[in-house]
Amino acid sequence: MAIPTPTDTRGRHLRDLRISVTDRCNLRCGYCMPAEVFGPDYKFLPKADILSYEEITRLARAFAALGVTKLRITGGEPLLRRDLPQLIAQLRAVQGIEDIALTTNGLLLPAMARDLKAAGLNRVTISLDSLDDATFGRMNGKGVGVAPILKAVEAAQQTGFAPVKLNMVVQRGVNDHEIEAMALRWRGTGVVVRFIEFMDVGTTNGWRMDDVLPAREIMARINARWPLQSADPNYPGEVASRWRYADGAGEIGVISSVTNTFCGDCTRARLSARGELFTCLFAAKGHDLRALVRNGGSDESLAKAIAAIWRARDDRYSELRAANASPVPKAEMSYLGG
Ligand code: SF4
Repeated sequence: MAIPTPTDTRGRHLRDLRISVTDRCNLRCGYCMPAEVFGPDYKFLPKADILSYEEITRLARAFAALGVTKLRITGGEPLLRRDLPQLIAQLRAVQGIEDIALTTNGLLLPAMARDLKAAGLNRVTISLDSLDDATFGRMNGKGVGVAPILKAVEAAQQTGFAPVKLNMVVQRGVNDHEIEAMALRWRGTGVVVRFIEFMDVGTTNGWRMDDVLPAREIMARINARWPLQSADPNYPGEVASRWRYADGAGEIGVISSVTNTFCGDCTRARLSARGELFTCLFAAKGHDLRALVRNGGSDESLAKAIAAIWRARDDRYSELRAANASPVPKAEMSYLGG
């Protein structure tokens, strides 16, 4: 299937596909899925609407034919989807796919880590926003403590995922007082903490610029305790900027979508659990690929449709954020898969 690798209107290649396998989650983190919005009556996607593993794999093959080499499995909480190792094994067999990663809240990971690894998963990123049970419990909206997440990190390391990465979303006045404690806890352990600026994803998390602690302040606070040196990205378009501890105790990452945007080399596409292609984390609408799959479209027609969508892409929300006079409609991050 010889379809030229598409570039978008800003010359950006299509290299990374984030696949949301469910819009459901067993936590209610306020910056992503606030409990007051995603309550007991919230209408999640019905089963029939969600792509099957065969359909996801077909789409992944089409994306791979266009140059995608990296997949990230997300949700909601992806480990809620039954038999996820089966999907990993199917994606592992897709020609051209070099790396498969997973983003999880970790609660179900200890029981599944070995099967996921055996199926071909390469990397794991776990969310941990605080080391304090009360703060973490408030932030995850379910009162879940830190211990189960520490168990997940241990299980991931024992299973051989390396480096295990941790995502900490930093909110001013909520958990920013823990930046140094989080850095200290994981120095010298091989675990890489990524400090993430609080983002205006979706329209339900009550985002305000005042609640954002800029990446440069996060860096300055850590650097004051443990001098940091800049490190080269692992690959072009890597989301996090990398910083090594000068004393050799490992590295951290910082994701600065608000104050130091990186749209210029954004090579990420997102596939919702319902089979829509989103060309930006902050997009309001996606392009329906499920209909093409379910109407018996060939692999070539799928790839052509995806290429046409990507060629027309001009997203750069983060660069335009400040210019937005009023809030713009956006799909929820828990729906897009972050
Ligand atoms: S705002 Fe959109 S275009 Fe910019 S880096 Fe994020 S996902 Fe990419």
